Amino acid sequence: MALVVQKFGGTSVGDPDRIRNVARRVVDTARAGNQVVVCVSAMAGETDALVALAQDLGQGEPSPREYDVLLSTGEQKTIALLAMAIHKLGHGAESLTGWQMGMQTDGAHKRARIRDIDCDRLRRVLDAGSIAVIAGFQGVDDDGNITTLGRGGSDTSAVAVACALEADVCEIYTDVDGVYTTDPRIVPTARKLSRISFDEMLEMASLGAKVLQVRSVKFAKRYGVPIHVRSSFHTAEGTWVTREEDVMEKLIVSGVTFNRNEAKITLRAVKDQPGVAGRVFTPLSAAGIVVDMIVQNLSRDGSTDMTFTVPQSDYAQALKIAQDAADELGATVEGNDSIAKVSVVGLGMKDHAGVATKMFNVLAEEGINIQMISTSEIKISVVLDEKYSELAVRALHRAFVDDGGQDPSEES
Ligand code: ADP
Ligand code: ASP
Ligand code: MG
Repeated sequence: MALVVQKFGGTSVGDPDRIRNVARRVVDTARAGNQVVVCVSAMAGETDALVALAQDLGQGEPSPREYDVLLSTGEQKTIALLAMAIHKLGHGAESLTGWQMGMQTDGAHKRARIRDIDCDRLRRVLDAGSIAVIAGFQGVDDDGNITTLGRGGSDTSAVAVACALEADVCEIYTDVDGVYTTDPRIVPTARKLSRISFDEMLEMASLGAKVLQVRSVKFAKRYGVPIHVRSSFHTAEGTWVTREEDVMEKLIVSGVTFNRNEAKITLRAVKDQPGVAGRVFTPLSAAGIVVDMIVQNLSRDGSTDMTFTVPQSDYAQALKIAQDAADELGATVEGNDSIAKVSVVGLGMKDHAGVATKMFNVLAEEGINIQMISTSEIKISVVLDEKYSELAVRALHRAFVDDGGQDPSEES
């Protein structure tokens, strides 16, 4: 008997018929002889609507604690409805909220991290032959406060539970057929990957491919639990996110991603002396702001420019912190929140020179100016004007995937 964790996203449980469809799939899996934990998101649009209500009543600054209490209701609604639909098919099911299923997190509201999962209750439900229907995206901190795991967090709930229960697989059912070479809604020629390594998926997720929340991939990699991303509307195989050894096709570029949710801050004419970077970045990290790319120019006449990017949601606060630092350091500050980060990701890059050059040439041919560059072993990212992001993604996808995804030395 296998233990399977299945996660269904918002669109997959978007209306009563879709919930009935999910119930059938889950029950089929159980009747095929598996133990099943099913983790669900809020119905499509529900979380956005709750966020809008919180912003309205909280006048743009809702209390983080109450924000989490409110947002967690979306998932609570779905678990009850799905359990009812499963009962109608004649199978046992019990809905469990985050605290009921033992999802322990830290106390960082709106972006809590999972600390531990106490699986006793889940195991009792499974041992009784029932399906455990758990609420994604939510947990409880040490003081009993409800927390949420950040947007897209149900993926992380599902994978973390799969790891804690040592499940055989975590299936992520969504509204696309798997992980594609880029967002299929932006590039119609995007193709579905049959397999992708944990590391490539980690990069793709952290660089903007929202099909999986990045922390879900971290859990899967750490505990070696394979993820199968697939459609909730048919039964075809999707994409396996798995160990590098199990990925046959080592593409030079397996994905092109974009992220429009970052902003750029530049400090001009900062003195080039020890301690300056610490003065700028210490208060940012103390405020919990995660800085992404950092570029510092070569110094000229004893001063230099420093540019970094932050999530757009933290932009106003980061700009204020940068301004305070700049005042103290005698520098000036500029900000820009209409930027996008476009990246190419691929394991094959490790063994191939020339990917960066090709990327820069493709963008130059489209007349797109590159504002910042950062690289790692398996990815190259550039920051550019937001209005060019889709053009850049299409051009890079054409160059690297449509016209030249394979390693030429491996073609016969
Ligand atoms: P769910 O509600 O099921 O969690 P999400 O909306 O969070 O679904 O994620 C699925 C969406 O991710 C797809 O509809 C697609 O537009 C987007 N997406 C972005 N990049 C990719 C990619 N490389 N492969 C597949 N989907 C992607
Ligand atoms: N409902 C939450 C969101 O919309 C969590 C999730 O769907 O994964 O972000
Ligand atoms: Mg999602």
